[in-house]
Formats: sequence, C-alpha cells, structure tokens
Amino acid sequence: MKNITLEEVIQTYGVENWGAGYFEVNRKGHLAVRPAEGDSRSVDVKELIDDLIDTRRLQLPILLRFPQILTNQLKKVQRAFQDASREFSYAGGHYGVFPMKVNPRREVVEEFLREGSKYNFGVECGSKAELYAALSLEQTPESLLICNGFKDETFINLALLGVQVGKRVIIVVEKLNELKMIIRRSQETGIRPGIGIRAKLYSKGSGKWASSGGESAKFGLTPSEMLECIRLLREFQMTDLLKLLHFHIGSQITDIKRVKAAMKEAARVYSKIRQMHIDVEFLDIGGGMGVDYDGSKTTFESSVNYTIQEFANDVVYTIKSVCDDENVPEPNLVTESGRVMTAYHAVFVTSIRDEIETFADDQPEVNVDEDDPQVIVELKALYDDINAKNYREYYHDALDHKDELHTQFNLGLISLEDRAKGEVLFWEVCARASKFAKTTKVQEEEFDDLKKILASKYLCNFSVFRSVPDHWAIDQLFPIMPIHRLNEQPTDYATFVDITCDSDGHIDKFVDLKDVKEVLELHPFNGDPYYIAIFLVGAYQEVMGNNHNLFGRPNEAHVIIDTDGRYHLKKIVQGSRVGDMLQAARYDKGQAWESMQRMINARVVGGLLDAGEGDSLMKQYQADINRYTYLE
Ligand SMILES: *Cc1c(COP(=O)(O)O)cnc(C)c1O
Repeated sequence: MKNITLEEVIQTYGVENWGAGYFEVNRKGHLAVRPAEGDSRSVDVKELIDDLIDTRRLQLPILLRFPQILTNQLKKVQRAFQDASREFSYAGGHYGVFPMKVNPRREVVEEFLREGSKYNFGVECGSKAELYAALSLEQTPESLLICNGFKDETFINLALLGVQVGKRVIIVVEKLNELKMIIRRSQETGIRPGIGIRAKLYSKGSGKWASSGGESAKFGLTPSEMLECIRLLREFQMTDLLKLLHFHIGSQITDIKRVKAAMKEAARVYSKIRQMHIDVEFLDIGGGMGVDYDGSKTTFESSVNYTIQEFANDVVYTIKSVCDDENVPEPNLVTESGRVMTAYHAVFVTSIRDEIETFADDQPEVNVDEDDPQVIVELKALYDDINAKNYREYYHDALDHKDELHTQFNLGLISLEDRAKGEVLFWEVCARASKFAKTTKVQEEEFDDLKKILASKYLCNFSVFRSVPDHWAIDQLFPIMPIHRLNEQPTDYATFVDITCDSDGHIDKFVDLKDVKEVLELHPFNGDPYYIAIFLVGAYQEVMGNNHNLFGRPNEAHVIIDTDGRYHLKKIVQGSRVGDMLQAARYDKGQAWESMQRMINARVVGGLLDAGEGDSLMKQYQADINRYTYLE
C-alpha cells in the first residue's frame, strides 16, 4: 500500500531531485543513505544518530562522513571519461587529480588515492601547505602531482624535492617570474620537473564563479606571456619539460555551453603549441563540474543543466574535433574536479533546541474595554471583524495601527502593558489574514511576506559560519530536511537561526524545484528531539568554515554501510573542545587556570569563599576546558 503522506513529504523536500540516489526516505519515515545509486544496502540515519548519541555518547551536531560515497563519485567521474573516450575513439588517456582546496582532510584525500590507485588518480595542490601534505601521501608512480597557485622559491624547492622522491610533479606556471625561478632552480640543482602553463582563456564559466575565467581573471598567462614562456624555455633548452597546458574557468559551471566553448578555445591553444614542435602531453581542463544542489537541472546558480556523463562527452568530443581539425595528437586529459567528487559524502546533522516566537500561538485572551487607548480598541475591532472579504484592507489597517502603537509608546503616551496588548492583537490579525489569504486562489505577494514574517524561527544547534559558510557568504543553497517524522505531514513554516550571536547566523533560503523557498515546511516543534540534516556539505564548507564565536569543529562519525541497514563506524573524530578554541584565539590553558586560581585565592583570603568551595570552583573551571563548544 502506498503511503500518501510519505510520498507528499518526499516531494516537499525534493530529496529525489537532489539526492543523486544516495538519499531517500524509508518506510519508517526516516532518512536513509545508500553507498551508491541503486545499491540494495542502506542505513537508517535516525537509528544511526540515536546509536551515536546513546551508546557512543557523541553529542550533536555530528558530521557524518560516508567514504563509500566519495569512492562512488570518483568511480562515476572515471567511468564517464572512460565511456566518452570509447564512444569517440579518443586516443589520449585520462588522469584525474583531486584538488586539495575543496576538502584537504587527510581521510578524504587518502580515500581518493586508495580507490584511485586503480586509475592513476593523483593530487592537485595550490599552496605550500597543501603540497607539503600531498608529498606525504602514497600515490601510484604514474599518477600526477600538479602544483597550481602562486609560488615562491620555497614552494618550487618543495616541488623539486617531490621530483627527487620519485613523484610525477608538474609545476604549473601562473606568472612569468615563476618560470624564471623554476629554470634557475632546475639549472642549479640539475632536477628536471615537469612544467605546465596556465592559460588565461577568453571563455568564462557561468554562475557564481564566472570571473575565475575570462580576460580579467586573476590567474593564468595571456597569449603573449605564453609565447614568452616558450621563448625562455627554448633559450635554456628546456622545452622538453613543458608537459602540460592548464586552464580552469571557475567552479560550479551551471551551463554546459560554457564548458564546450572553453574546451574549443583551450584545444586550439594546445594545438598551436603542439604545432610549434613542443610535445605537450597533457591538457588539464581544471575543475568546474557542478553539483545540482536544488535538483532543478537548470542553469540556476545552485544547479547545473548537465550530467557527469554529458560533461565528459562534451569535453572529449570537443577536444577531439579540434585536434582532428588541427592535425595534432590528442592529449592526455587531466581533470581536477573537486566539488562533484566530495559534496555528497558529508551530511551534517543537528537538532532543533527551541522555537523563537514572533508571536506565540497560545497567547492569553486579550481583554479590551473602552478605557484602553484608541489604537488598541481599533486593533481589537479589526481582530473581531476580519473576514474573507475584507482581510486585505484590515491587514493594511493593522499595519498602520502597529506603527501608531510604537509611535505612542516612544512618546510615552502608553504603557508597556498597552504595547504588549496591541502587539498581540496585531499578530492575531496577521494570523487570521494569512489564513484567509491561503484559501484564495491567487497568491498575493504581500501575503507571501506575511507567511515569512509569521514563520517560526527554529533555534538550531550549530553555527552557519562553521558548517555552511557558503550559505552566509554567497547565498548558496543546500538541501535541508528532518531525518525523521517524515511520514507525518509538516504543518509549520519555519526558518532556522543558529546559536551564534550574529544576526547573519540564519538560514532562510531553501531549495525548491521552481523557485527559492523562503520558509521550509517543518513539523511542529513539541519539545521532543527533532533532528535535521544539511546535505551536500562535503565540498568547500569544512575548510572554509570559521571560528566565529569560538564554535569549533563538530564531532564526526565515518560510516561504512554493510549489509541491509547494518553499518559500522570506521572512525569517530572528536570535535573541538573549549580548550582547542581557546588555543585558536591564543589563550593559554595554564595561564587561564593560574589566573582563575589567583582570583579564587583572593576570595578565600578575604573570607568570601571557604577553601572547599574554592577548590570545587577551580575543579569546575578546569573540567569545562574539555566541553563541547555547542549546546550540550
Ligand atoms: C578550485 C579549483 C578546482 C576545483 O574546482 P571544482 O569546481 O571544485 O571541481 C580545480 N582546479 C583549480 C585550479 C582550482 O582552483
């Protein structure tokens, strides 16, 4: 038998649109996760969270990591390029590399390299620290270690060290003076690294990161700079080191047309260099493959209008056509996709702690008599007489009266009690108006706003700045939904506020197929644990999350899904404790304790505390250094 409510709820949250087959709702009305689309195994996330809380003593918020999803995304991208190469008889190979900036966590990068050893999958780094970390990781001898980013001599020396320990390092030149440094250091040491050049393409991406490409991009060499590079390499007889041509037109490219245009241009540049008798082996197309965060399959910022396979097909086909036309060998393709590989694997789970009321549903009855100020008497009349015919006019009148109420209060004409009474009446009128508006067929915009104003604010135990910084910084949408009660109709409209002391710490934009929702359908908060999850946070969010209010990294559980709904925890990683965050702000635990001890001693000497009380205060202060930074 079909469960009508369940079906409706699934539609409400759109999980089938953005879930990519990893996320779904099971018959208990709980969120379930699969290690791959169509896989028969799945884990019940509500039961998993209960287990983590009850038997593992782990506190929310918890970041769930599913390594199987990482490897499955890697396989999908690999397979897409393999299939495309077969379909178009592409002669070059495919070398994927993982761009560390997307998620530099050791467990994530190691997982890719472990699975990727089957496909000569490598690493891309963009800074000294990333390179330093990359050098410590095992990778197959054929796989690449690509060094992008702006470089100083230390960076270059570190890359040369990589060559000496047997890694297949390619240093990509972003600026002409980097090439001069590379040539000099190579001559001084006799070490011969692979060299790449990053081209500044005329083609741009689309969406938020379009400005990563185009003429005024921050990165890459203009055609005349590229020619100068080649001239320099010729002068020093090092053209044989020039192995790679690189470009990257931006992340989350929403429109496949932009991908094709960039490939055309880049393949021409490659061909022209080839025709100068320089055996560039690799064409590195950067990242940019997007994630359909809202599931709409459109060119909207939080979506993409192509699949992984279409992306791969267009890349391979376009490059092949140009190479045929120019009569040059087809290059090995290097791809640096990060977002699409990591986004799905991490799910952030937390709980609703409370509801912040604009106005409470259970207000006491307001008694109004003729002694009350005129404005209140009038609000009461609106409340009593509002109906389906006059609700629009009465709502406008109520808005005027609310202004009047506040003016009179500020002039000292009415009391705090009067103001409270007036506000309650105002919100009651709004609630009634909103109900009448819902029953009419035409959706009026002003009443959409009212829906937003009347929406509950759910206080959620997390920091937007730590866990979904892109929602705050660039209005990026992430799917959000409860992980249980999904066979129950969500009858409330709500937005989320986080526990930081920052009014920007909120989420009030939600994914929707046709639009962006400003309120999310949720279940009435009744005080029982109510868990929600934010999805697709595995790319960029962790590394860009910050220490605002000294909220730290959340607890983490790495989950492997075994047979039918069984799972095992591969690893639990404790989130930051109070002490960690103190350190981050340059406090010293020893100093803090010493100074607290001094204050306590002074109170004891002054006779305001006895010695026993002093001891226990000190013990408390010391113990709390190990507390979780979120609400416990
Ligand atoms: C950021 C970046 C990437 C990764 O891009 P995604 O859109 O996450 O795939 C790849 N290459 C370079 C040079 C980058 O700067």
